Amino acid sequence: MKYDVIIIGGGIIGTSIARALGRYQLSVAVLEKENDVAMGATKANSAIVHGGYAESHAKLKGRLCYKGRKQFDQLENELHFGFEKIGSLVLAFEEAQIPKLQALYENGLANGLDDLCIIDHDAVMAMEPAVNPEVKAALYCKGAGVCSPYEMAIAMAENAVANGAELFLETGVKDVVPRPEGGFNVMTEDGRSFTGDYVMNAAGVASGAVSAMVGVDDFTISPRSGEYLLLARGTGSLVNNVLFQMPTKMGKGILVSPTYHGNLIIGPDAVDDGCVDKATHPDRLLKIFNEARLTTDQLDITKFIRSFTGVRAVSSTDDFIVEETKVPGFINCAGIQSPGVTSSPAIAEMAVTLLEDAGLKLVPDPGYNPNRQPIIQKKALLPFKEIKDRIDIPSAPDKIICRCEQVTEATIVDAMSRGIPVTTIDGVKRRTRAGMGFCQGTFCRPRVAAVMEQVLGHPVDPSFDVEHSGVNRVGRNAIVEAVQAALAEKE
Ligand SMILES: Cc1cc2nc3c(=O)[nH]c(=O)nc-3n(C[C@H](O)[C@H](O)[C@H](O)COP(=O)(O)OP(=O)(O)OC[C@H]3O[C@@H](n4cnc5c(N)ncnc54)[C@H](O)[C@@H]3O)c2cc1C
Repeated sequence: MKYDVIIIGGGIIGTSIARALGRYQLSVAVLEKENDVAMGATKANSAIVHGGYAESHAKLKGRLCYKGRKQFDQLENELHFGFEKIGSLVLAFEEAQIPKLQALYENGLANGLDDLCIIDHDAVMAMEPAVNPEVKAALYCKGAGVCSPYEMAIAMAENAVANGAELFLETGVKDVVPRPEGGFNVMTEDGRSFTGDYVMNAAGVASGAVSAMVGVDDFTISPRSGEYLLLARGTGSLVNNVLFQMPTKMGKGILVSPTYHGNLIIGPDAVDDGCVDKATHPDRLLKIFNEARLTTDQLDITKFIRSFTGVRAVSSTDDFIVEETKVPGFINCAGIQSPGVTSSPAIAEMAVTLLEDAGLKLVPDPGYNPNRQPIIQKKALLPFKEIKDRIDIPSAPDKIICRCEQVTEATIVDAMSRGIPVTTIDGVKRRTRAGMGFCQGTFCRPRVAAVMEQVLGHPVDPSFDVEHSGVNRVGRNAIVEAVQAALAEKE
């Protein structure tokens, strides 16, 4: 199999590059080791479209963040993955922190931002009545927002495939060998071989290892985990903006934010584990919850539905590495930690320019279509009495499969018919939200499996994702009880 460009990794970076290459007459393959796109950091992060004031202009991540953020309106219009500008606040709870706000403000100006200002206590309280009234001031970024990052990567991948890219799932790359005549042989774990003129390394936390396959090992990537608590749909209305505390040297600190779909997200912490560990831990979650209470004491732990962990790909250069390497035609998009989702449109642009500079001919494809229809749209839930007669009925397009999120059979069938194999219940969940409600799929998992069986024509194991994830997550009761006990002790 011979391609102009082979992209290794189907996270937001790999899929954004594949989509950006879709406007040219090129053969493009995306090789992804997992059974779906967006299975790495792109699946588990804060989902913030960052302002672009936090990273220094001296760093690539400082220069690319706002450049990426500015493209989100257009991308959302074309791809419908879920993006809303809700604004963000960095909260200072001590007078001594105000100069730090000023430094962030000035850094934002250096990065080109024009929608930043520092606001005082009264202005913060008027915007955010639930915030701790000890707040002294805040840095307000009007154009920051929230998005659904895995839906974004899915949308990118669907659009790339619609424009001719080929996506190979369950295709882990084992080795990349430069060919004497130019180009590369890319070998997979299951013994297949792909040939590409150019290789784009977008393998996230594995990008250091993939780079080392061609002998480029002048940097390392270390995993740094961050755990989160997610509260039920509707709880996001507690706050209006993304609420950050002051950044630390490990990251942007604990945030409290509505998600695009109206949940409340709390986290992340930052721990250098030395390995990719997606488990969650009661002590870490408890600490995160307690720290978040500095932002607001109105967090209701009884609304907890899920904990999860995201793993940052921290590079030894402390920056994004987006460059053609000393091996001609092999391009690294490595060490893309936060704000990687926000920067992804700008990283994809840069990657295309690097390919062109390396000799790839970019001939526009007159058939290119930038648009992709939404699978779901944000909507208020209907009263139960209006859906109850559509729950226990035989198969029908408007049958309600997931009660909590009111997902219909037709939506699941649509999600599975867009050029990307959707073979797991989690894959359906990320596309449709079936299983993301308060019961976390207890009710709908077998029902989703039944719809999948109709589409796929073979049996689907409803417990596959749970049993094969290998992830040990703190359960609801454990964290609710731990928080309640800690709060009782304080009183
Ligand atoms: C805790 C946390 C919070 C964050 N918050 C934000 C935020 O609010 N806003 C923001 O803009 N950014 C945020 N980020 C950063 C953002 O999530 C990442 O920068 C982005 O998702 C990185 O995308 P990626 O495509 O490089 O990596 P990934 O999404 O990890 O994708 C890499 C892909 O490569 C695949 N792969 C690996 N090895 C191989 C191989 N050998 N062969 C084939 N495929 C392979 C993996 O399976 C994976 O799918 C956060 C990150 C974390 C972890």
